[in-house]
Amino acid sequence: MIPVAGYAAQSITSPLSPFDFERRDLRPKDVLIDILYCGICHSDLHLVRNEWGRSIYPMVPGHEIVGRVIEKGKRARRLKKGDLVAIGCFVDSCRKCSNCKNGLQQYCTDGLVLTYNSYEKDGKTVTQGGYSTKIVVDEDYVLKVPSKLPLEKTAPLLCAGITTYSPLRYWKVGKGHRVGVLGLGGLGHMAVKFASAFGADVTVLSGSPNKQRDAKRMGATDFVLTSDAEKMKTLSNQFDFVIDTVSARHDLDFYLSLLRTNGVMICVGLPSGEEQLSPFNLVLGRRSIAGSLIGGLPETQEMLDYCSRHKITADVEVIPIQQVNHAYDRMVKSDVRYRFVIDLASLK
Ligand code: NAP
Ligand code: ZN
Ligand code: ZN
Repeated sequence: MIPVAGYAAQSITSPLSPFDFERRDLRPKDVLIDILYCGICHSDLHLVRNEWGRSIYPMVPGHEIVGRVIEKGKRARRLKKGDLVAIGCFVDSCRKCSNCKNGLQQYCTDGLVLTYNSYEKDGKTVTQGGYSTKIVVDEDYVLKVPSKLPLEKTAPLLCAGITTYSPLRYWKVGKGHRVGVLGLGGLGHMAVKFASAFGADVTVLSGSPNKQRDAKRMGATDFVLTSDAEKMKTLSNQFDFVIDTVSARHDLDFYLSLLRTNGVMICVGLPSGEEQLSPFNLVLGRRSIAGSLIGGLPETQEMLDYCSRHKITADVEVIPIQQVNHAYDRMVKSDVRYRFVIDLASLK
């Protein structure tokens, strides 16, 4: 077994604290990765605080991982020692269902293994994530990082990036579309960058007045405070798409009314609890509401390559791991500019 240092939550109420554990010895197709950076996703916070009701403790969170291959198994051929690589939200899947065969591993119907808070295929080994010094992963589930990308700004692409890139591509968002991005956090700021790069006209809908200038710099043409009732009224029937990235409960019905005829509300945010919807806001205007989960391996690689070609990366605040609990407190207050990224050198 391979000894690893990490930070873990020991229970629903405990803050993250130092935790030593072991990774498996390398199987023939595994690679051992020295983790350099790991982004902090709001899903980490939902899971650490058991807001979705399926948390396994002790939990080492982290699924926006960038690192370097330092060892490989005998049959690993795609990757070699020294390669810069990345791991996102999952580390294995059944590989046989139609979704896996079509490169949509995130929708695997027979055993997606998440990067942490999940069980490996043996059904008993709990996976542990990237708030740690090293990780062992089958090379088939590892992405290659294009050489031009700055590593700390690349880590958030592995979840915040692909989660917004994938639906924008699926719905072919581009020139001629008006898009509302609801919530300017980790996912929201990547949605603004991608949607504007694809040619859409982007309006940020935010509860934070001090994010206006950043929204424009990221490519938004307009910024509206959701608390400004008068201005919000003028936006009804305006958008072809609303991408909802909000992490807390909010009035979905109201935001549906902002869609034009045939408009689609794309939910990517995952607040806990249930929402009430009136069918009227769907029926009048033939509107749809849809969801989307991260992205599969081929599309994640495509996104990384696109970001390298178009110089798109996340806006980050790099922190030592010792500040992770403070970062969580700021994230709850929507005070994130626009992704915290842990520098794992602070744990070595
Ligand atoms: P984040 O960085 O914390 O951003 C969320 C943003 O939502 C905040 O910055 C804030 O933006 C807005 N917000 C927060 N609380 C709010 C409230 N009470 N009312 C209205 N707006 C509020 O979070 P994230 O990492 O982007 O993740 C967002 C959500 O997506 C989380 O629920 C996460 O679990 C989920 N997620 C889903 C997927 C997927 O595959 N579908 C992948 C990753 C994450 P403003 O300051 O602009 O208002
Ligand atoms: Zn995430
Ligand atoms: Zn599958």
